Amino acid sequence: MPPVRTYRVKEIFGPTLQGEGLHAGMPCLFVRLSGCNAWDGRAETRAASACPYCDTDFRGGEALTLADISARLAALRPPANGLGCVLTGGEPLLQADAELLAALGSAFAWVDIETNGTRTCPPRPANVFISCSPKRLDGEPVIVEPDWWKVLIPDQQVFLPHALASGKPVFVQPTCPDGGPSGERYQANVRACLDLCFAHGCRISLQQHKYLAIP
Ligand code: SF4
Repeated sequence: MPPVRTYRVKEIFGPTLQGEGLHAGMPCLFVRLSGCNAWDGRAETRAASACPYCDTDFRGGEALTLADISARLAALRPPANGLGCVLTGGEPLLQADAELLAALGSAFAWVDIETNGTRTCPPRPANVFISCSPKRLDGEPVIVEPDWWKVLIPDQQVFLPHALASGKPVFVQPTCPDGGPSGERYQANVRACLDLCFAHGCRISLQQHKYLAIP
């Protein structure tokens, strides 16, 4: 019998709210896969990485089968209708396969895959969406075709023309240079996002979970 596939999973948690993008404010569970190709996750290498603003711990984790993941999600699941699932990381498309996406798509009303765009997505059900926050990585161009873009302002503004030309919804999200959604530098980034909304019809994404102080 072939070995059972496992996924390296950092954490599974919820219920909480999706804080970003098209499903912002909607109840969901989170599956965070371990590992990223934009940063190795160590504090001492963050500043020189492609994502010096990254606030996520995606190192380590445990090896779980699809059955393990499904059981943990079922144990957390509240009775709410319309419950979604966020598949995030790290970079989830380093590990996600068609089987995982099919299982999540059948278990939840909607699924957001949060990717940096440098990997293609396996076949997915129609209710599994790709939210791409593009990142500049040496030798790893953005190749995914997302359902919407989330461009971090100002750090990843270089991707704005590409995102706008795609015809897909474009969210602009201010980065939090001082660690949270406050401070003069954050306010300047918010103003820059508002200017982009008025100039290009972008939508603003404000990381609602940080304002609500929820995971
Ligand atoms: S791609 Fe995402 S998870 Fe990876 S380092 Fe950048 S912000 Fe963090």
